[in-house]
Amino acid sequence: MLIDSFNREIDYLRLSVTDRCNLRCTYCMPSGGIKLIDRKEIMSFEEILKAASILSEMGIRKIRITGGEPLVRNGIIDLMKQLKRIENINDISITTNGILLNGYLDDLYKIPVQGINISLDTLDRQKYKEITRGGEINQVLDAISNSINIGIKSVKINVVITSLLDEEDITGLAAMTLNKPVHVRFIEMMQPAGSNGSSETVECIFSVMKKIGKYHAVNDKIGNGPALYYKFKKARGSIGFIINDKNLCSYCNRIRLTSYGTIRLCLFSEKEYDIKKKIRDNYCADDIKPEIAEFVKAKPENREDSCRYDNKDKVPINFKLKDFMNRIGG
Ligand code: SAM
Repeated sequence: MLIDSFNREIDYLRLSVTDRCNLRCTYCMPSGGIKLIDRKEIMSFEEILKAASILSEMGIRKIRITGGEPLVRNGIIDLMKQLKRIENINDISITTNGILLNGYLDDLYKIPVQGINISLDTLDRQKYKEITRGGEINQVLDAISNSINIGIKSVKINVVITSLLDEEDITGLAAMTLNKPVHVRFIEMMQPAGSNGSSETVECIFSVMKKIGKYHAVNDKIGNGPALYYKFKKARGSIGFIINDKNLCSYCNRIRLTSYGTIRLCLFSEKEYDIKKKIRDNYCADDIKPEIAEFVKAKPENREDSCRYDNKDKVPINFKLKDFMNRIGG
């Protein structure tokens, strides 16, 4: 078992397989574009499997594949199949923008994936183009319907709360949960780009939900992460909130493996353990494991303790300088 110094059991790995993406979402990447990581610094599949196998022997049970956009990486299905075969890994899921998803659904269903999280921040075609800097929403809407129809166990829609999210979007997205078995999660925006989603916006979502119908809090555990869930009466799906509340960090059970091969303890923390280097230098698992166990002990108690702030504004330094979500993996 992998336990940190606050007695949290770490059994969940967010695995970023690439920093490349076929969209350029405004809240995820800077307008001037990003400097891509040198390909030779990106972990090979062999290295990813080695790292995952070491981590599974230490207590990781669930893996979520992310990026960048994971479906742009060649051979991604084979990698997922092989990850699923690792002893003790009993849950593989993926987060995608959905643009290429239709072409992969059969394979993902057969693996089988535990769930697919699809990013969709509006239902308006033009606004979607604006937020994603060019994406075509119909591909994503089709992929959501097809994921449900093919029988993917858990389909979640990730909605980042941007300044463009309006009442019409909230109504449409929330109402999807009435007759579709989807979990729509509103995510408070984290820096770098734009301002933090304010609590006013979360209040606004609740007031729109009230107009749709009666809802109640759900106590069942719907996901692995720190989300709060609500359900309309007789609805097939649910509505979740992923908010920047440091109190939720006490439930954190995850670490991250970046596309360039380092383990991260928190999205907001700059500390890294370079497992790729150890693997490339031919260290054996028995040498690496105690180092990881020690490193995990340094997992910060909460996201505020992770951050190093610039005095002038409230943007964590790591986000401001280089660590856009596409690099670390969202
Ligand atoms: N390309 C895939 C996608 O779009 O889902 C996976 C990578 S993306 C970085 C993973 C998740 O991070 C998405 O749901 C995205 O909305 C979220 N994300 C990216 N930047 C964010 C930010 N600044 N604040 C909150 N969530 C963000």
